[in-house]
Order: sequence, then structure tokens, then C-alpha cells
Amino acid sequence: MAGVADFADPIGGRSSFFEEPYMPAVVDASKCDGCGTCQDNCPSDAIHVEEKVAVVKPENCIDCNVCADDCPKKAIEMKL
Ligand code: SF4
Ligand code: SF4
Repeated sequence: MAGVADFADPIGGRSSFFEEPYMPAVVDASKCDGCGTCQDNCPSDAIHVEEKVAVVKPENCIDCNVCADDCPKKAIEMKL
């Protein structure tokens, strides 16, 4: 029988539609150098550099794409 767990996100950004917050901005830690440009430019205080890697606070993210556009390392992808 199908349950909530069967709605696992195929792109890996969320574990289910119901249990995790919406998270459009995803950082590739292998590309991020911790420059802080995303943190400085985010209009919603939704991304911060922690230990030299940017980390998204999904409940604050408004899916504006600014961080992905401005990242010099192209380390941020927008997931829908
Ligand atoms: S702008 Fe890009 S490289 Fe710089 S901290 Fe943010 S994600 Fe990392
Ligand atoms: S998509 Fe916009 S609101 Fe979300 S983390 Fe990036 S700059 Fe901030």
C-alpha cells in the first residue's frame, strides 16, 4: 500500500512532500569556496556560510534565484 514515504523526491532535495520544507536553493559543497557572495546578496537571510561552505535555511528561502545567479563558482542550483 502506498504511503507518505513513497513520495520520496527523485532529485534528492527533499525526503517527502510532507515532512521536509521546500528547498529550491541547493549548494554543491564540492564547488563552494565560502566566498560569502550569496550570503551578502540574499534578500531573505536564507543562506549563510558555515565552516567555509554555504548552507541554505529553507524556511527563509523565497526562491528568488539571486544566489545562483551571483555565485562565482556556479555552486548553487535551484531545485523545484
Ligand atoms: S557565492 Fe557560491 S562560492 Fe560563494 S559562498 Fe555562496 S555558494 Fe559558496
Ligand atoms: S534563492 Fe534567493 S532567497 Fe533563496 S537562498 Fe538564494 S538568494 Fe536567498
